[in-house]
Amino acid sequence: MTGTVYLVGSGPGDPDLLTVKARRLLDEADVVLHDKLPGPEILGLIPEEKREDVGKRAGGDRTPQSVTNERLVELAHEGKTVVRLKGGDPFVFGRGGEEAAYLAAHEVPFEVVPGVTSAIAGPAVAGIPVTHRDHASSVSFVTGHEDPTKDESAIDWEALAATGGTIVVLMGVGKLPDYTAALREAGMDTDTPVALVERATWPDQRVATGTLDTIVEARDEAGIEPPAITVIGDVAGERDELAEFLRGYGSDEAENSEAVSGE
Ligand code: SAH
Repeated sequence: MTGTVYLVGSGPGDPDLLTVKARRLLDEADVVLHDKLPGPEILGLIPEEKREDVGKRAGGDRTPQSVTNERLVELAHEGKTVVRLKGGDPFVFGRGGEEAAYLAAHEVPFEVVPGVTSAIAGPAVAGIPVTHRDHASSVSFVTGHEDPTKDESAIDWEALAATGGTIVVLMGVGKLPDYTAALREAGMDTDTPVALVERATWPDQRVATGTLDTIVEARDEAGIEPPAITVIGDVAGERDELAEFLRGYGSDEAENSEAVSGE
């Protein structure tokens, strides 16, 4: 009998933000396929013998998506209950849609278990509401890391700038200089607040802030690395209003992280 594959979102990394269903399925699964994005705390909950890392391979390169897809089908055909654990929500930039399509094409039953996406939770825990009655009546989620085989940018930064809403960029650490430049060229105010939330809800979460003009410098100074969320828009300035009383999840600025971790 063919087993079921659960495409499960892990949330951004704090085990307390796993859904009850995700937590139950991690216990019930025969095998859990994962990469590093769920973070050290959640991966630490999974018994070693159930874990199969389909992130980076021995040589340091990524496991091709086709290998992960085939492995899911293979395990299901062995009758296994399989959890494919994905950071955040499985259908937000995680290639979960491709995995679901592959499973359907191979007649493997599957279920999607939504998760708390880092695209909303990352800003939130840094004190940034992605929408705000006074500042943003829309929010766009975009990838900063486009398919390099595409000739032209699939993202219309000019149109995004024109929405006046919040822009949340995933996979956007490396290309930060490119898209901030594109937004400036599109006429977005250079003083627009920008925040980078690195490893949101992980024990070592950090936040760096600046403007469309200064955020690249702030990134370099703090040494911000993936995974991080970029939030662009007036809402990112809300953080300043809230920071003093914001608790939980490393409410420190990147510059202060040393002092805090030395507690
Ligand atoms: N499905 C995921 C996104 C996968 S794409 C979700 O819904 O959150 C990978 C990108 O997600 C990373 O490059 C980063 O931009 C973002 N990301 C995921 N987890 C994160 C975290 N804990 N903190 C900051 N960014 C995170």
